Amino acid sequence: MVHTFAKRLLLAAALTLLVACNDTTTRPQIDIEGKTMGTFYSVKISGEIEQNKQQLQQEIDALLEQANDDISTYRPNSVLSRFNQTHSSEPQPIPRGMADIILMAQRIGRDTHGAMDITVGPLVNLWGFGPDKRVVKAPQQPQIDAAKRNTGLQHLKLLSDNRGEWLQKDLPQMYVDLSTLGEGYGVDQLVRLMARKGITNYLVSVGGAVSSRGVNGQGKPWRVAIQKPTDRENAVQAMVDLQGYSISTSGSYRNYFEQDGQRYSHVIDPATGRPINHRLVSATVIAPTALEADGWDTGLMVLGTEKALKLAEEQGLAVYLISKTDDGFSAVMTPQFKAFLVQ
Ligand code: FAD
Repeated sequence: MVHTFAKRLLLAAALTLLVACNDTTTRPQIDIEGKTMGTFYSVKISGEIEQNKQQLQQEIDALLEQANDDISTYRPNSVLSRFNQTHSSEPQPIPRGMADIILMAQRIGRDTHGAMDITVGPLVNLWGFGPDKRVVKAPQQPQIDAAKRNTGLQHLKLLSDNRGEWLQKDLPQMYVDLSTLGEGYGVDQLVRLMARKGITNYLVSVGGAVSSRGVNGQGKPWRVAIQKPTDRENAVQAMVDLQGYSISTSGSYRNYFEQDGQRYSHVIDPATGRPINHRLVSATVIAPTALEADGWDTGLMVLGTEKALKLAEEQGLAVYLISKTDDGFSAVMTPQFKAFLVQ
C-alpha cells in the first residue's frame, strides 16, 4: 500500500519520493504529519517512546517554525528576508543553523562550478517561481540580464567571530534564496531531535527530503521509493534502504509553466539566467545529511545528465538520474547509489 501521506505529498508538492510500508504492524508505530515550508512533513517512529505524541508534535512544529522564521523567503520578517531587504553591505548577524546552510551552499556551489547558486533569487523571482505572483509570460532578455547582474556567489561572504555568524553582500540588490536547501535542513533538524530523545527507529521527511534509521513497525528496514516521472502517482522507479543516510530529489517536471508549447522549469541555470532546458528530468542524491543531498540534487539538475554523472563519479556521490528519451525515460546511477538499492 502506498501511504496516504505520501500520496498527498506527491500530488501537492512536486516530489518524487514516496514511503513504502505495509498495513500490519508488529511493534508500536507513531505517525506524525503536518505542514511546513509550503509542503508537508512526516515523522514515523517505531517502538516505545517515553514522550506522548502530542508533546512530540509540538516540539517538531516548534523546530520547523524556527527554521521558517530563519530562512523562509515567504515570510517578510524572517532573518533571510530582512537580509534580502537591506541594501547595506555591512555584515548582518545570522543564526548558526543558517550559517551551516550557507556554508554547505558555498561548497556545493563551488563543486558544481556555479550550477547550484543560492544567489539566483532575482532570476527565480523574475521567472515567477518565488514568493511573488507567478509570471504568465517568459521575461525578455534585458530583464534577464538585469537580474543576472544581481547574482553571483562571490558577492556573498560568510563571517564568523566570537560574537557569532554574519552574512555580508557587496551587491545591494542581492537576494539569497535558500528554498532548494530548506527541506534538507528541516530533515536534519528532525534527525537531531530524534537523536536528542534517544529514538533510533524513525523515518522523517520534509517535502522531497527523507532520512531514516533502524526499522519500521514490522521490524523491517524503512524503504523509500523513487517515483517514476509520470502522471501515475504510485509508479515506482526504484526502491532504496537508506541505512541512516538521507535522500533528496530535484525534478523539473512538476513545478513549471508553459508558453507557446515550451515548458519552463523552476530550476534555473545561473549561467544563462533561464530555466534548464535539457533531458534530465530528475536527480536523486543519497548523502550523510539531508542538507547535502538537497543541495547536490539541484546542482546536478542544472548540469544535465552527462555533466551531472561525470561530476557525481568524480565526487564519489550516490546519484540516480532519470532522463527523458524519445520513447520514455532512462535511468543511470553511480556505483555508490547501487549500494542502497533494494529489489
Ligand atoms: P528543489 O529542486 O529542491 O529546489 C528548486 C528551488 O530552488 C527553486 O524553486 C528555486 O527557488 C531555487 N533554485 C532554482 N534554481 C536554482 C539554482 N540553480 N541554484 C539554487 N537554487 C535554485 N512555498 C510556498 O508556496 N509557500 C510557502 O509558505 C513556502 N515556505 C517555504 C519556507 C521555507 C523555509 C522553504 C525552504 C521553502 C518554502 N516554500 C514555500 C518553497 C517550496 O516549498 C519550494 O517549492 C521548495 O523549497 C523547493 O523545493 P523543491 O524540492 O520543490 O525543489
